[in-house]
Amino acid sequence: MDFCLGVLIVTTDPTLATDPLGDSLFGEYARMLLVGTAGCSAIASAVRVGLDPIAAILVLGNILVLASLVTSQLAGIFRCMLLIGFALALSWATIRSSGEDVWWSPVVFFSPAVLLASLLLLAARDFVTEQRRRSDSHHPACLRSYRVWGFAIGAGVLLIYMVIVPSVDSFLEQFRERPSSYTSEELTALEQLRIRTAKFAVFAVFAYFGACVGSFLNVVAASAPRGESITLRSSSCPQCQTPIWRIDNLPIVSYLNLGGRCRSCGVGIPIRYLTVEIVAMTIFAALFLYELVTGAANIPGFTHYPYAGILWIILYTKWPVIGIYFYHCALLSCLLMLALMEADRLRCPRWLAATLMAAFLLIAIASPTILPVSLVDHLPLRLPEVIPPWGQRLMTSIAGAAMGWLVSTAAPQARMRNRQWTSSTPLAAILIGIALGWQATLTIGMLWLLAATILKSIGGPRLRPRWLTPTMLLFAVTMLHHPVWKWLAQHW
Ligand SMILES: [Zn+2]
Repeated sequence: MDFCLGVLIVTTDPTLATDPLGDSLFGEYARMLLVGTAGCSAIASAVRVGLDPIAAILVLGNILVLASLVTSQLAGIFRCMLLIGFALALSWATIRSSGEDVWWSPVVFFSPAVLLASLLLLAARDFVTEQRRRSDSHHPACLRSYRVWGFAIGAGVLLIYMVIVPSVDSFLEQFRERPSSYTSEELTALEQLRIRTAKFAVFAVFAYFGACVGSFLNVVAASAPRGESITLRSSSCPQCQTPIWRIDNLPIVSYLNLGGRCRSCGVGIPIRYLTVEIVAMTIFAALFLYELVTGAANIPGFTHYPYAGILWIILYTKWPVIGIYFYHCALLSCLLMLALMEADRLRCPRWLAATLMAAFLLIAIASPTILPVSLVDHLPLRLPEVIPPWGQRLMTSIAGAAMGWLVSTAAPQARMRNRQWTSSTPLAAILIGIALGWQATLTIGMLWLLAATILKSIGGPRLRPRWLTPTMLLFAVTMLHHPVWKWLAQHW
């Protein structure tokens, strides 16, 4: 739900400085609530369109509420008339339909009465705004294009996934000799829409959680090496010292919403914050797609389940897969954080390094399934039976850590620039070793050196930016290795 609200703030418009729904924190939250409810209600009504004519009216009304919250492109008075006109049409259609409880119909979030109230509220807002509107806009034009693009891309992806794909699928179904699966045989396009909406919501929750992790990584990478507190710190603008509102602290969304500028003083926020949040979101989203919902299909030596998919892995929770997913997401997030510190020429503090190693090691020892590749895989050896399973896992992790340290001695060869800082690489490689085992660490190490050699031979200074440190390259190679881990392990 937070995600839905978060996405929709992108679409709300802070440029209306005199907007009664925008110039206070309460107003912002009221608008978020209204947008979120209208959005959910529009989707819920859309699912019912085939069953219920009044649902079609509700869809249109909700879309109109959304549109008027979303954009200020329409002239205020015109939009005001449109809202009032639609409110009248809604009343007329509702009164004409025979059901007595239609006004408070419980089947959708927005009953017609609430929708009518929203329409009138927005019309009143437009009227007030138009009265108080100042013509000067102090936001540069690029802000608007950021937001418009973000909204357009998001809407396009949703449209393709939820409407176009199932429509094409059910259209092609009639040409197939046998139904491809039980779902396309029995489900109508509307039911598919509903299922896809639910699936997308689950995916979005995981992906946005990744963006929140990325936001935290930004703070840790900048604060921990300087000895500043990580948690007990209220965020404020470094330029004007104004405390940052909670609504401006949402990962990715707030950056786009503010167009990369401080709300109070307008100073630019470095694009790096946005980039890190997007990369962290990519980690969680990519692993969700190829590791979590496939039932860890990319992991060698993992006992697979007969069923996979969001329903079978997440809703009928398979804890081993979920554990592996979060363990690997945590590993990749830590690598990203170390790479950020290295790019800033900061050293990871000892307490943080020790905590990370201890945490990854303890989890690897405690969980029986999180280290699927044991010490002796790929070797003509057998561990003696007297060693208990946790002892074998400890040996596996220690061997991985040793291999990681060995790999990290090649860091000088992986430098992209002369005398580049390489302080994070040993810790990053050791963490990879602890979490993935020595075999994968060796593969990653070889690919890492190969990638460094190729980049150095083809790259001019443009291809070797300052942030492309050895640890950043190691992170990138680990990301690329992860989906093909099982395939590579078979060819070992
Ligand atoms: Zn500021």
